Amino acid sequence: MIEEINSYFKERFGVSVAETKLHSHSESEWKQFSESNGFNADGAYLVRGREAHVNADSRFAAIDTFHEYFGHGLYTEHSVIGKKLYSLEQKLMNEEKEAGVSSREELGRFRENSDTCREIREFQEKTIAPYEGFAMWMEWHLSMLTGKMPLYEKKEACRSEGARRLTNEFIEFSRQNTDYALLYANGFPKHCNMAVLNEIARNVFRNDLNSIAFALVYGSRKPYSDIDLFIVSDKIPCFFTGWLDVYSVPREKFSELLSKQDISITDALCSGELIYGNNASFQNAKHKAVSAPPSKEAIDFHLNHACKAKELSEKCTDAREKRSAARYAVSYRLNAIEMQRGRKPLTLNTLMERYPEQFRPFEKPYIE
Ligand SMILES: [Zn+2]
Repeated sequence: MIEEINSYFKERFGVSVAETKLHSHSESEWKQFSESNGFNADGAYLVRGREAHVNADSRFAAIDTFHEYFGHGLYTEHSVIGKKLYSLEQKLMNEEKEAGVSSREELGRFRENSDTCREIREFQEKTIAPYEGFAMWMEWHLSMLTGKMPLYEKKEACRSEGARRLTNEFIEFSRQNTDYALLYANGFPKHCNMAVLNEIARNVFRNDLNSIAFALVYGSRKPYSDIDLFIVSDKIPCFFTGWLDVYSVPREKFSELLSKQDISITDALCSGELIYGNNASFQNAKHKAVSAPPSKEAIDFHLNHACKAKELSEKCTDAREKRSAARYAVSYRLNAIEMQRGRKPLTLNTLMERYPEQFRPFEKPYIE
């Protein structure tokens, strides 16, 4: 069963539990283990050694395994938060080794004064909701796939009100946005392919699907970056949720911006791939973007837009918006300069290749 579920994860999400070891205890072993560690549940996950422990004699053993081994195991091995937690634990372990603590008392005193230990505690407090919410969602998800819903419901009935609410938030999110989106929103790597993105788009925009002329994926498409979508729609607004960044433009505005060769539009058209909607409209728009010669109107538009973006970035208080507006100002100004020279970079990548120095302040450290 473990191997089967792991192949399912590998195939569907591109990740599986690789480092975590599963320790199945008998009832008496579990009693001893949990008492000596001060646990009061029928399962535990130890981040430091990536160990999932369960009481194999509990009636909920299968579901506890879903929680500890697959839930916390996958999260600790692959999500941004889980990986940070693991690396902090490794750091603390090495510090404890260096300090040469041997007894429990010494260890207790060492941890009380350790900055790393404090950092771990604070980080855990901040991230407990996604850490536990994901593992409880995993119980539900795998119970559903393996026909264990009756057992799951019995276990769920024993849960606190708060835990039930948190689990429901996760379940509702995956129902609305797909299970892929649930992993992506929880900091798992995005092994995006067109079929997955199409499924996500059909779910996320389910109420406004008819309004979409076409939807493209563009931007960096790196596993730990957000997903950038460009959409032509009269209904869907622009929004950003941490894992999904949607740039949506109404049809009329789109035609107007395309006629001005707006770099944010030509960039999406020339670097993007269709994930939903009408391919002929997309190709037609792309052809227009590529074939139109640089015009005086387009140059003036970009110079004007660069000024406005610069003013906006000076006024902005939100760091993300400030940075984004400043980057816009640079892109629009440089695109105008290029067009004045009779050239059309069309994409931000081309602009960045030609003017690396100007874009250096906007480089993000890549989180792996
Ligand atoms: Zn847990």
